[in-house]
Amino acid sequence: MQTTLSPVHGFFLAAVLATITPGHGGAQPNLTRPSHDRTQPSPPVVTPGTSSTPTQPGRPPSDAIVLFDGTDLSQWVSQDGSSAPWKVRDGYMECVGGTGYLRTLRNFGDCQLHVEWAAPVPAEGVGQGRGNSGVFFGMTRYEVQVLDSYQNNTYADGSAGSLYGQHPPLVNACRPPGEWQTYDILYTAPRFAADGALQSPARFTVFHNGVLIQHNAELTGPTDWIDRAPYAPHAEKQPLALQDHRNPVRFRNIWVRELGPAGKPEFTFADRLLDSYTGTFGSLEIAREGHQLTAKVGGKKLWLFAESPTRFFAKTTDVQIEFKPDADGKVNELVWSVGEGANVAKRTR
Ligand code: MG
Repeated sequence: MQTTLSPVHGFFLAAVLATITPGHGGAQPNLTRPSHDRTQPSPPVVTPGTSSTPTQPGRPPSDAIVLFDGTDLSQWVSQDGSSAPWKVRDGYMECVGGTGYLRTLRNFGDCQLHVEWAAPVPAEGVGQGRGNSGVFFGMTRYEVQVLDSYQNNTYADGSAGSLYGQHPPLVNACRPPGEWQTYDILYTAPRFAADGALQSPARFTVFHNGVLIQHNAELTGPTDWIDRAPYAPHAEKQPLALQDHRNPVRFRNIWVRELGPAGKPEFTFADRLLDSYTGTFGSLEIAREGHQLTAKVGGKKLWLFAESPTRFFAKTTDVQIEFKPDADGKVNELVWSVGEGANVAKRTR
């Protein structure tokens, strides 16, 4: 039994990540400055976290967004945004088979994600049926496989730490079932042009229990069973998700650090809430496509992004919309603006 579960040394990880971060998205050195430019801002100070032990999860770095600290699922929901039905006890969450994937309420693009997981004991099932779950990026598009790969043979591109169906892990660094294991994942979201064409693919670097198992691996498209479908364009920031593969896999100590320029936080709220906003408000037509709202104005369609349950914004134009629920929660009014001012619009349909 090892005494620590996160042997990734901070300096080591930082150095590796610095050399492999692709040329977009993450913070890049500004080489238009002279070397040793004294006006260059100092890097933000971050208090590093601590490693986990077999019985105690570690502490996240000070700038991390904590997604699960062992106490509640407030950051997690079902796919449609309804409340998360997985069990929480003794500092971990556990998949309840058949209840569906969990996803985060908040959306993330390029990020560093830390997740700890433990496969069920006693180990039951074989191959893909043993301790199967998954950590997904881009909602449910891109899976870093979670599987009990300890003395459990399966196809290589479906074993623990694989980018499912595409990239096997470089090595099998799995611990026995029941022991806590760590994934430290660097995700670069794919980029799409305005016409939907792929500009750059999704990329993953993954450490499993501190061992490098994916090194800037590029995906050909979504990870899927039996299929390698091409990319379909999507918003850069999407919820993260955990898979329900009907095995009681446990998770603890989940935190994320957003990379790249800080923008407004974005969330994917419940479909039911979004549906309460759809309709016609004066010259504005609000609709839901998938888990996102759109606004049609002057014949143009804009994708809307949620910064709070009532405030939404577009990215290609500075359009801001605030829905105004009444005391009964009915939404018959909104306030919207383009670049300046504010227009009140009443629901007409
Ligand atoms: Mg899986």
